[in-house]
Amino acid sequence: MPGQSPAAYDVVVVGAGPAGATVAYDLARGGDGVPPRRVALLDKATFPRDKFCGDAWCAPALEILEEMGVLPALEAEGLVRPTRSGGFVSPNGESFVSTGEAPPARESRVYSIRRSICDERIARRAAEVGAALHEGASVAATELAGDGTWTVHCHDGRAFRGALLVAADGATSRIARKLGVVAGGPEATASRRYVAAGTHAFRADGVLLYPTYVLPGYVALFRHHDDVVDLGSYLIPGGAAAPGELRRLYAERIESDPFVRAALGPRAEFLEPLRIGPLRLGGVPRSVGERLVVVGDAAGQTDPLTGEGIHTAMIAARLAARTIHEAFARGDLSERALGAYHTAWTKAFGRDFAVSAAAGRLIHRMPLLLDAANRVAQRKGDAFMARFGAAMTGVVSKAEFVRPAMAAPLAAASLGELVRQRLLRHEVAGPASYAAAAAAHDPRATTFRNAGVRT
Ligand SMILES: Cc1cc2nc3c(=O)[nH]c(=O)nc-3n(C[C@H](O)[C@H](O)[C@H](O)COP(=O)(O)OP(=O)(O)OC[C@H]3O[C@@H](n4cnc5c(N)ncnc54)[C@H](O)[C@@H]3O)c2cc1C
Repeated sequence: MPGQSPAAYDVVVVGAGPAGATVAYDLARGGDGVPPRRVALLDKATFPRDKFCGDAWCAPALEILEEMGVLPALEAEGLVRPTRSGGFVSPNGESFVSTGEAPPARESRVYSIRRSICDERIARRAAEVGAALHEGASVAATELAGDGTWTVHCHDGRAFRGALLVAADGATSRIARKLGVVAGGPEATASRRYVAAGTHAFRADGVLLYPTYVLPGYVALFRHHDDVVDLGSYLIPGGAAAPGELRRLYAERIESDPFVRAALGPRAEFLEPLRIGPLRLGGVPRSVGERLVVVGDAAGQTDPLTGEGIHTAMIAARLAARTIHEAFARGDLSERALGAYHTAWTKAFGRDFAVSAAAGRLIHRMPLLLDAANRVAQRKGDAFMARFGAAMTGVVSKAEFVRPAMAAPLAAASLGELVRQRLLRHEVAGPASYAAAAAAHDPRATTFRNAGVRT
């Protein structure tokens, strides 16, 4: 405690990604009668640092960036691309991409912002409000002394002391694993590969492809403010391909995927080799310990259906900071007191992860559900796509899919697909129909073509 504890800091945060930097910002800032805390924010990297990512920032993250004052500056500098024209391609090649004429609703917007840019802005903002940002501080070990003081040792010999430790060190979660709070390694993988501006034919902003070889994962194309395209992919355990197979799958299927080829065109130049990163999915069962809080990817706060984890990391960070402020106010940093944070994030989005995981299993067994959803999107247009997107990106609960406005047309279309694909054997989801739909004159690809995605 200030004045009582020998700790140099109240809180030592390890990892200055979106999770750690947001916790540090909220703790260092205090406000509304809450006293600011003395915070050390450590990262092994020196900013700007890269993070392999699809760079898609969903609405809840944008709200927080706005409140921090980070987003207005990025917008003013032209460093963001709002996803106006977005959509998806289903397993049998049905495609819908919204026109992009109407601006996306504020509550369902998704922006492409490079992690190398945005992560640095958040970390520096935390420093501006008082957090002591230490870069190049690679944490090697942590120890909790009998008097309740953490000492955090860095590989270069630096040491930081604090009354409370926040582990926000990403999906490998080395610190929380060493401390026995989190078990096992990350389960999923995702990839990124930037394509040079002006060399591709992608004219939409963001499109997800769901070919059967990757289900229930996906391949994604996202365009940045400067026309660089992020070609990504995401593999979920228990799906058509194991997460460890991503590199092989990329070489054998993704690179030659007919929709990817059509979207990128013959002149596409890659700016980097394939980048692959780990994901820990679905939330860990325990995210606190004695004087310890685990946040973000380190706590597996990534949606198992979409692989998105930036906004959940930031929401959890805010909840963690609130609990930590309260714990300091009461003078109780015990695991029991900090448990309020675990309860809060489970309630905020953790339960939705179970629905996401179940949805993934369902899609894997019945890809026609995505074909049906795409047909509904084609019929109902941008408004349906916006609602679909809001549920997929965590803006509203996945329970939205079972509400009448979504569930009724989806159920009717699924029945139609079931009859067409299983009884009439008219079309079968799979590589053949997917490739056929990608062929230039397939009328089902019209909306995709209208969005200017094709060459
Ligand atoms: C290829 C890929 C694509 C993705 N695409 C998206 C997407 O488009 N949208 C989305 O919402 N999510 C996406 N995700 C998930 C997203 O990247 C994470 O959920 C997000 O980065 C979580 O933030 P974080 O702060 O918890 O962890 P991180 O961003 O990983 O930050 C952890 C920080 O800890 C630091 N660190 C690690 N170990 C130490 C140590 N020992 N000492 C000091 N510092 C340390 C690291 O340098 C890093 O800065 C993607 C993930 C991958 C792998």
